[in-house]
Parts: sequence; structure tokens; C-alpha cells
Amino acid sequence: MALKTPEQFEESLRGRKLNIFMNGERITDIFDNPNTRTVIESNKASYKWALDPESQEIMSTISPLIGERINRYTHVCQSNEDLLAKANAGCFTAENLGTCIYRCVGLDCFHAAWATTWEMDQKLGTDYHSRFLEYLKWVQKNDLSVAGALTEPRGLRDKKLKDWTSPYLALKVVEKKSDGIVVKGYKINISGAYASHEIMVLPQGTRRPGEEDYAIAFAVPSDAEGLTYVCQYNAFSAERMLTDDIYELGNPLFGQRETSMIVFNNVFIPWERVFHCGEVEYSGKFVARFARTHRMTCGGTCKVGFMSNIIGACRLLQEYKGMTKAPHINDEMVQLLILRETARACGLAAANLGSEEPPGSGVYMPDEMMGNVSKLNVCSAFWKAMELAGDIGGGLVVTMPSVRELKNPEVKDYIEECYGFGSDAGAEKIMKVTKLLQNWTAGLHGVGTWHGAGPPQAQKIMISRIADYEADKELVKKKMNIS
Ligand SMILES: Cc1cc2nc3c(=O)[nH]c(=O)nc-3n(C[C@H](O)[C@H](O)[C@H](O)COP(=O)(O)OP(=O)(O)OC[C@H]3O[C@@H](n4cnc5c(N)ncnc54)[C@H](O)[C@@H]3O)c2cc1C
Repeated sequence: MALKTPEQFEESLRGRKLNIFMNGERITDIFDNPNTRTVIESNKASYKWALDPESQEIMSTISPLIGERINRYTHVCQSNEDLLAKANAGCFTAENLGTCIYRCVGLDCFHAAWATTWEMDQKLGTDYHSRFLEYLKWVQKNDLSVAGALTEPRGLRDKKLKDWTSPYLALKVVEKKSDGIVVKGYKINISGAYASHEIMVLPQGTRRPGEEDYAIAFAVPSDAEGLTYVCQYNAFSAERMLTDDIYELGNPLFGQRETSMIVFNNVFIPWERVFHCGEVEYSGKFVARFARTHRMTCGGTCKVGFMSNIIGACRLLQEYKGMTKAPHINDEMVQLLILRETARACGLAAANLGSEEPPGSGVYMPDEMMGNVSKLNVCSAFWKAMELAGDIGGGLVVTMPSVRELKNPEVKDYIEECYGFGSDAGAEKIMKVTKLLQNWTAGLHGVGTWHGAGPPQAQKIMISRIADYEADKELVKKKMNIS
């Protein structure tokens, strides 16, 4: 049986020695730190759902590689049905977590790596693909969680890589040995890596001749020697550190979307885990294929799940606060539904129209146009959803006292009267739901959604690259009898 129980997952993460920091201090135990704990809980849930009879069909499948039931987050799509199942699993995961899926980036890296190593072996006679398949089988057999790392700090945006002040602003090979490579540099904004077993690393961008040392893809254990994690830190992190009852927070168990920068200080990668090394003409293909897969994930799945949380909170507040008959609120609720279902439709369309990429490789990827449109659509749709939810939630979304005041004998009665709004629901329910809305509308999610899977300009560039205006031009010419 390839599937781990949630408890086995947690146990399997113990014993790793991580070099990890947050807010200027070393984290001695990621299981105890209230912020890093949320990533463990989120990944743990994906193990639970793969075993739960109610969600097993969504969250698991049978592996064509090892013939056993595996977690959906280790399965590379082999058909349009797989892509649709992947989209549904993404919505389900995000809806139930209300935070980052975490395991999706690694999975989308697998898609890019399968396709591109296959192509490299065909064209260059390398053995990257068999290495990668052996690795993937090992991941599946051991039911491992895998994060994905592409984003790099990079140097000044108007300078070429060779002109950056430091050669390590992108990850680079610093030594080639008989048994592997040594890499040095940084990856930034990486979701949940310290609470995964492995990290799949791809280049961030296309590489040119002369940049061979930067043309690398590999897998590395999250506790490899030479890795240092510096975690994100913000007001929501601080708030979580202060509370002794997570149910006062906007997303109690699973928290905000946690990322970290990762320092690679002369990290050794054995050849059997290296899937690309020096073939500059293929770096861009890794990136483009990752983006093609990941934009459906970000545009058409996780934000759908996030919007379900927003919609649920708005509807509850509408009911708790006696606004079910307010026409403009009902209109805003319908607008929210339209935003969510448009996002879902884009994801499903990208999956449905997906195709084998490259032909013969066996990997299915979402439709390029619909995937990019998916992500671009959600960038604005999510801000719009935040705006509507902010209106429905009222100023309390940002002015609310702590839910803890309900336990403070000196003000408890005032709070109950004041924020109960005379409702049957009572202040506690109203405040908790409003707190959830604060997390979604007055926090990190607008910018996070905008940039995750690449800033909008990247999608626009891709859309203009694949745009084909010929059919549209022909329509007009035909109608107007223009030769
Ligand atoms: C919540 C969250 C989770 C994430 N998780 C992961 C993860 O797990 N793994 C991972 O690899 N990445 C992850 N990312 C990173 C994400 O993919 C990047 O943030 C995104 O690609 C934008 O890159 P950047 O942050 O460096 O912003 P920039 O690239 O600095 O973008 C800022 C602005 O500068 C513009 N710009 C950038 N370069 C140029 C240029 N050369 N010329 C002109 N304009 C330019 C952009 O279009 C944009 O308008 C995550 C990001 C977020 C927000």
C-alpha cells in the first residue's frame, strides 16, 4: 500500500535537521512553531483525504507506474480525464484547507520534468527521463510530499544574468563531480518546502548559451546539507505567535499561505537526481511547461476553493445580520458566484481542451490559451471578490476587537451586546466569521493571487505569443468580400 496515514506522514517528517529561521530567530521545532505547524497540518490533510472513503476518488488514483493507489498529488496526468480529476482535486483541497495547496507546485514540476526529460532523451540521447521516472516511482511508493522551487531573486531586471552583481541571484552549478553536481544560490517565495520531504527544483527562466551553469533541474531532500530556510513573516504570523487559542484566528488550523526563501549553500545533488544540466535550449521548455500546468492550478482550482470560503462567510454574515432581503447584497452574492464559477469554468475548459505535450511523451497538459486566461482572469476576479466581500462584511472586517474579548469579564457583556447586533447568532459566531473574512479580504491574498504562478504580464506575453488572429481576420474578409 503506497498511501501513508496522516500520522505516518507527520512521523516521517520528524528527525530531519532543518536550518530554519523566522523573525530573526532559529526555529528549533517546526512541529511546535505555530506558523510552520500550519503547513504540516495542511499537508497532513492531503494524506487523510486520500484515505478517507468520502474523498478517496478525488484525492487518489491508481499509478500506471507502480500499479498501486497513490495520492493525486504524485500523479502525472496521462489524459484529459486525469486533468479534469486534477482540477477537481485542486478545488477540493483549496476549499477545505482555505490556504495554499502546497503539494501542487511539486506536482506541476513533475509534469514539466516528465515532458522535457522525455524530449531531451529523444533528441539528445541523454538518460534524464529514465532517471526522472525512477525518482517519481520512488516518490509514489513512499507517498512523499514534494514542494516546487523555480522563483529566484534575480538581479536588476534591466540587466542580463552575466551583468548581475552576484552570480548567485539565480541557482547555479559551482562544481561538477563524478557522482553529482554542487549548486549554490537562492530560490524565493517557495511554498511549504520545509514541511515536504523533497523539493523539485527547476530553472526560473530561459537560459542562453554562456548560461549553462544555470540550466539545471533536480530533486533534493528538504533536509539536505547546505540548505537554509528563511520564512516569511508578517502581521498574521505575529498574531498566530501570540494566541493561545487558534480559533480566534481567520484560518485556525491551516493558516495563511506560508513560503520561505531557500539558500542553497554548496548543496550536493547526486547525478541520479539531476534531470537537466547545461542544455540551455531546454531550460525554457521546463519553465513554459510548468507554467502551462500551474496556471490552470492557480487560476482555475485553488482560487475557486478560496472563493468558496469567501462566499460561505458572506452568506453567513448576510443571514446572521438580517440582510437576506437586501437587494444589493443579494446582487453582490450572485456576482461572487459568477466570479467563482467563471474561474472554475476556465480551469475545467483548460483541462478539457488539454493535450499531450510533447506528442508521444504521455504527459497531458492544460490548454495553453485557456490556462493562461484562467490565471489572468482570476487576478482581477479575486480583487473583485475581495471588494464585494468587504462591502458585505462591513467595516467590522478591519475594526473588529479580538475574539478574546469574549473571555474578558470587564468587556465581555459589551462585546456580546454590541457585536451580537441583536441577532440569534450572537457575537461569537459573527466575530469568528468576520475574522475569516478579514483573512481573505484585508490580508495577503490579493497580491498573493496576483503574483502566484507569475505576474499577469507573463500570461499576457504567452497569450500574445500563441494568439492566432488569422481565423478572425478571415471571418471579416469573407463577410466583406475582401480578397
Ligand atoms: C503566495 C505565493 C506563493 C508562491 N509559491 C511559489 C512556489 O511554491 N514556488 C515558486 O517557485 N514560486 C512561488 N511563488 C513565486 C511566484 O511565482 C512569483 O512571485 C512570481 O513569479 C512573480 O515573481 P516575483 O515575485 O519575483 O516578482 P517580479 O518578477 O519582481 O514582479 C514584479 C513586477 O515586475 C515586473 N517584471 C519582472 N521582471 C521584469 C523584467 N525583466 N522587465 C520588466 N518588468 C519585469 C513584473 O511583470 C511585475 O509587474 C509564490 C508567490 C506567491 C505570492
